[in-house]
Amino acid sequence: MDRAPLPDTGYLKARIRTVPDWPQAGVQFRDITPVLQDPRAFRVLVDAFVLRYMETPIDVIAGIDARGFILGAVVAHQLNKGFVPVRKKGKLPFTTVCEEYELEYGNATVEMHVDAIKPGDRVLLIDDLIATGGTMMAGAHLIQRLGGQIVEAAAIVDLPELGGSVLLKEAGLPVFTVCEFEGH
Ligand code: AMP
Repeated sequence: MDRAPLPDTGYLKARIRTVPDWPQAGVQFRDITPVLQDPRAFRVLVDAFVLRYMETPIDVIAGIDARGFILGAVVAHQLNKGFVPVRKKGKLPFTTVCEEYELEYGNATVEMHVDAIKPGDRVLLIDDLIATGGTMMAGAHLIQRLGGQIVEAAAIVDLPELGGSVLLKEAGLPVFTVCEFEGH
């Protein structure tokens, strides 16, 4: 499908802050809060997603805990869609489905409410960043288990050296990211 051209994404990349060695030595944390804080950058960010998806058939937008909630909810509202959260374990009050996945050290679990997705729903899945792809993949599995179809797995940042976006594409998921950073 033809997609509207993106605004200049270098503008956004320049406003993502890198915090070295956080939360642990060797990690370059890509902090999107300066983008959210700056009204112009926040609008450019949201518009990048709105322009990309405004003509795409989507039933619901799923955002991943926690920064995926911020962007996902705004994009959902702008596109006149509903929003559903993919949450970390133990936070959702109603009946859930859950999916465990591997982190660099240990495991994590994400959950969704069983009624968050209806069979056949076209779902746009949003997070802030793709590193190893484990989080996005776990979210995608939950959506697929509930009968949803992933329109795209979308994030602001890709860390291609960690291989997550390739892994997601190899699993058959369309992937969209606004910008890339080298390293971890
Ligand atoms: P992964 O499951 O390895 O793709 O990791 C992606 C998730 O971890 C996202 O929800 C990110 O918010 C977070 N994350 C992983 N690495 C970084 C990083 N270098 N900077 C910021 N967030 C990160």
